[in-house]
Amino acid sequence: SDRLKLGLSRSRQEVWGKLSGLFSGPKLDDDAIESIEELLYSADIGTATVSELIEEVKKKTKEGELDENSFKSFLFNFLKDKMKPIQETVDRSLYTFNKNESGKTKVIMVVGVNGAGKTTTIGKLATKLRAQGASVVVGACDTFRAAAVDQLQVWCDRAGATMIRAKEGANPSGVGYDALQAAMNVNADYCILDTAGRLHTKENLMDELAKSKNVLKKLDPTAPHQILLVIDAITGQNALRQAEEFHKTLDLTGLIFTKCDGSSKAGSAVTLVSQLKLPIAYIGVGETAEDLDVFNVDDYLNALLG
Ligand code: GDP
Repeated sequence: SDRLKLGLSRSRQEVWGKLSGLFSGPKLDDDAIESIEELLYSADIGTATVSELIEEVKKKTKEGELDENSFKSFLFNFLKDKMKPIQETVDRSLYTFNKNESGKTKVIMVVGVNGAGKTTTIGKLATKLRAQGASVVVGACDTFRAAAVDQLQVWCDRAGATMIRAKEGANPSGVGYDALQAAMNVNADYCILDTAGRLHTKENLMDELAKSKNVLKKLDPTAPHQILLVIDAITGQNALRQAEEFHKTLDLTGLIFTKCDGSSKAGSAVTLVSQLKLPIAYIGVGETAEDLDVFNVDDYLNALLG
């Protein structure tokens, strides 16, 4: 989409768009290959992926298979192969609400460090699902941040979603439980849970999130159906370590990649997906409700490579 193209323009201009410009002649010389390597590192593409790509570039150059014209499609296909098999595992019910499917409440737990864009993303997601006619209950389980809860309330009011909140400082897992109970009582189509990204107590965040996850099973043994980690593109390489920690504790089902518009590192999605073996469900390219796009590999790579 145009929004995605616009959103990824920094990454395209600062990194990926420069790659094809490295051909000075019909073939790549060693200096050019070194420059490609540098650009990929500056894009926060992980070491393993960069090495593999460079090996491939060297091999194809030697065999005379790579030139100015074929380079971009080579890059496109290389990156696509890394992502496609994993992207295909995304649960479609995250995208489209199907009235005719089982009437059970779909529980989506959203996790991530503070500032990654959890609140905003949940607001956007609730808006999208409501626009399709789904009923949505949102649980504001981040009881440590009153301002974030108020922010979420604004989103929910605008979207026409019901929000369940607790008194400040209340137990986060208790709010999640109450929200799911409320959602099940009205047979809501979706229950989306915002969670804490940092605790003000000595208790460990991962322990608390694990507890919040497990308590839902008392109401529905199959819940939560999705556990999505929100990571922002600005985090770069650290995002991988961060995600690994969340994944180890919570067994994530997918990622939401935000703030791609404010970063030149939107290309790191490739590394995240291929290293974590987790699909990206949505990509955030701005602050409004329309700025959350379903993640589609072809659209993403087209926007990235130009
Ligand atoms: P939380 O702490 O994880 O709940 O993060 P918030 O949802 O409060 O978001 C932090 C800031 O990032 C806010 O100013 C949001 O408007 C902004 N934000 C969230 N997603 C995006 C995005 O995709 N693009 C841009 N440019 N800003 C975003």
